[in-house]
Amino acid sequence: MTERWVYMSGEYVKKEDAKVSVFDHGFLYGDGVFEGIRVYDGNVFRLREHLVRLYDSAKSIMLRIPYTLEEMEQAVVETVRKNQLRDAYIRLIVSRGVGELCLDPEKCSRPEVIIIADQVRLFPQETYEKGLHIVTVPTRRNVPDALNPKIKSLNYLNNILVKIEANRAGVGEALMLNSDGYVAEGSGDNIFIVKRGVLYTPPGYVGALEGITRQAIIDLAHQLQLPVKEEPFTRHDVYVADEAFLTGTAAEVIAVVNVDGREIGDGKPGPITRQLLAEFRRLVRVDGVKVYPESAVGVHA
Ligand code: PMP
Repeated sequence: MTERWVYMSGEYVKKEDAKVSVFDHGFLYGDGVFEGIRVYDGNVFRLREHLVRLYDSAKSIMLRIPYTLEEMEQAVVETVRKNQLRDAYIRLIVSRGVGELCLDPEKCSRPEVIIIADQVRLFPQETYEKGLHIVTVPTRRNVPDALNPKIKSLNYLNNILVKIEANRAGVGEALMLNSDGYVAEGSGDNIFIVKRGVLYTPPGYVGALEGITRQAIIDLAHQLQLPVKEEPFTRHDVYVADEAFLTGTAAEVIAVVNVDGREIGDGKPGPITRQLLAEFRRLVRVDGVKVYPESAVGVHA
């Protein structure tokens, strides 16, 4: 098996030895921020945008990341290179660090920066071809003035409850509504619907993470001259949509073909969804930061 190295606050540690303290506030309280990033054929897709979101999330929770954004960018690229990966999933974590057994972040010595780069766990091809059945679950999205869903924090219990409810309902993903009953997002993806050639996706203030994939799809839609509206909508609008799909770093673009027992469109991935997935798969190879200089031949993992 290929040796894997994890970046831990400036050092590379073997995967087996990459351990954090039980006194780390990321572990004790979910106090920290993170990113999930993909590398496609040596291109770290929209790395800048991921880092901007990471630094914004950290600023919002008053966590000072001990590196500049440029230094972090270098560390991410080097971690992928060190692991000789061309196609990878990166998990970048900044926790508040080791502290005392109390909430107070001021008792934490220094933030811990962790970068894991490993092979991607891909969704089966069948998921893209057939699309997903999903349900709406009882758990609502955190209200923005409690823990704002725009912050990609280590506190994912809201999303985990949704995932548990999806599992129990026998589906792979679920829809979360906000406290006013508007559609927010999935447990780990954003949602789009298509109606009469127009794309709709909930705006961030409804209670959704401003996904990097979501923005890439908005950009591609503009290029394809498909109108996009970021506005609130209800479950009803999803039920009567012509197409629906989820977007996310792991999911990419996955059609939703049934919601709460209602078939969406004709129950198959729609033409706009399929076109956007194809365009997205082209974009991910070129838009971002290159890990390997042109001349070097990267190792296929
Ligand atoms: N919403 C939530 C709650 C998520 O965890 C994710 C995955 N990061 C997304 C949406 C999709 O965001 P992105 O496209 O940046 O992966």
